[in-house]
Amino acid sequence: MARFRNNKPHAKSNSTSENLPICRMCGKVIRNLNLAISDNLNGEPLHFSCVLDYLSRTEKLGSDESICYIGSGCFGIVKSEKNSLKNSLTIRKRIQYENIEKKSEWRRQIMDSLNL
Ligand SMILES: [Zn+2]
Repeated sequence: MARFRNNKPHAKSNSTSENLPICRMCGKVIRNLNLAISDNLNGEPLHFSCVLDYLSRTEKLGSDESICYIGSGCFGIVKSEKNSLKNSLTIRKRIQYENIEKKSEWRRQIMDSLNL
């Protein structure tokens, strides 16, 4: 019996991250590229939460300010102002994090796979 020839390694669960990109900010695998943000330096994918975390650390936020995702790779510092009548949200600053001109290859592949 030549059974040893079919000796498949059983540790498949440890090698599922082979082809997945690594986030430069936290060093962990990015499993959901649909939620990833493209690095403005090199176009590599980053965790959405890591970019959010990075921006909230580097931007000086007031106590009534927070960072939110506006869309198209753009974040905004949102200031909530309490008027006597209502709470209003204004975008104090826009942060274009993704480099729009440099369309990332990994994102194009997702678009292709989603048939967008
Ligand atoms: Zn990360």
